[in-house]
Amino acid sequence: MKVLQVGICGTDREEAAGGRADAPPGEKQLVIGHEMFGQVVKIGSAVVGFKVGDYGVFMVRRPCAGCPSCNAGRADMCCTGNYTERGIKGRDGFQAQMVVDEARFLVKVPKAVAHLGVLTEPASVGEKAIDEACRIQAARLPGEKAADYLKGKRALVVGLGPIGLLGAMILRLRGATVVGMDIVDEGSPRPTLLKKMGGSYVDGRQVKTLDLDDKLGQIDLIFEATGVAQLEFDLIDALGVNGIYLLTGIPAGDRPVTMQPGALMQQMVLKNQVLVGSVNASHAHFVQAVRDLAAADKLWPEVTRNLITDRHPYTDFAAALAHHGPDEIKCVLAWS
Ligand code: BGC
Repeated sequence: MKVLQVGICGTDREEAAGGRADAPPGEKQLVIGHEMFGQVVKIGSAVVGFKVGDYGVFMVRRPCAGCPSCNAGRADMCCTGNYTERGIKGRDGFQAQMVVDEARFLVKVPKAVAHLGVLTEPASVGEKAIDEACRIQAARLPGEKAADYLKGKRALVVGLGPIGLLGAMILRLRGATVVGMDIVDEGSPRPTLLKKMGGSYVDGRQVKTLDLDDKLGQIDLIFEATGVAQLEFDLIDALGVNGIYLLTGIPAGDRPVTMQPGALMQQMVLKNQVLVGSVNASHAHFVQAVRDLAAADKLWPEVTRNLITDRHPYTDFAAALAHHGPDEIKCVLAWS
């Protein structure tokens, strides 16, 4: 594939800063980049379902040598931990002019949503977490069906970066009422985009996390996308009866955390609560991400067209990795 754009996220910046990143075996360097969007330029003779000129996205994770999840095409649920990830763990990534991989890891993006194609990977992370919530809740709550679980439910999305905003988008598409929380002014771009999708905003600098439940009432689902461990723990307090809490942020480092474990565990038991960590995504979640980006583009074009805030030519990679402005949502490198 010819690479057209590759997104930059917190993981890339962490890698560039010397954090979590593994070069391929025997090598000293790792090509980063896992949020790719490109165009097929050449296909093998046995490939079916793709043709030259198709737009698409290569998935990130590759299976381990063999475990029940990887054998079932669900490397995102790998049981051994020996999976690899392009641009992150043991395999070169997509910040390059051309990339090659197996067709089974390619997800087609229709031309009509090509302008949003680079958002497929981050959206797939939200798709997986939210899909899990719907299935888990339908499995344990009387009268709930996974496909309808979110209709009329109240969701709190914490951290309105790309994952949080895409999570809010998916939750709104499924019919949830969404409250978003961040620590920026209400009139600034990220809360504004949330409100254009019908969400409401809480400024986390003005409300104590422990007061959120009194202010907001029953919260059925929390979608966390901050990667701030202290906040992640504190948010448990905001979760309502029979609620489910999705963690997608990946805290870096070991900053100390203070908490009241007794009170939290008591609450979790007495309120039948579920805490779910969710990483990466399956092929089906990537496909759903493409569908939802297309649906959101029809409903809220002023939102979808403002999610990519920063575009740099690939030659400006160093500045793009180093600079993270307060109003940045998605930063992408253009390769073509
Ligand atoms: C990526 C995922 C990946 C995870 C863990 C995230 O930034 O979006 O695809 O599985 O990091 O490495």
